[in-house]
Amino acid sequence: MGEGEGEERKEEREVEISLKDFSRKLEEFAKARDWEQYHSPRNLLLAMVGEVGELSEIFQWRGEVAKGLPNWEESDKEHLGEELSDVLLYLIRLADICGIDLGDAASKKMVKNAIKYPPKIY
Ligand SMILES: [Mg+2]
Repeated sequence: MGEGEGEERKEEREVEISLKDFSRKLEEFAKARDWEQYHSPRNLLLAMVGEVGELSEIFQWRGEVAKGLPNWEESDKEHLGEELSDVLLYLIRLADICGIDLGDAASKKMVKNAIKYPPKIY
């Protein structure tokens, strides 16, 4: 791999995908498979909770884990990325089906949290 290619890949990784882009892609994905009939708020919530369980299993019985997961196998990290993604994608789909603009709601919640928990003044 030449230097130029490395730069190109780095730029590719920096392309941002918005929550709305994901919402649209998830809607298309469900439509193309005729799965919209199953995507009720309750079903999506339960599916997300199931994925949180799968995510939890990765950490189960390992004891405390260091930041950055320095001693983990690459395959375990890849698995972690997949389960984190499953949770995120169901969360985005759930918000969309409920008519919640998740980006807007999360921004507002961060403002609320900042007021509720003021920064420490040194
Ligand atoms: Mg999963």
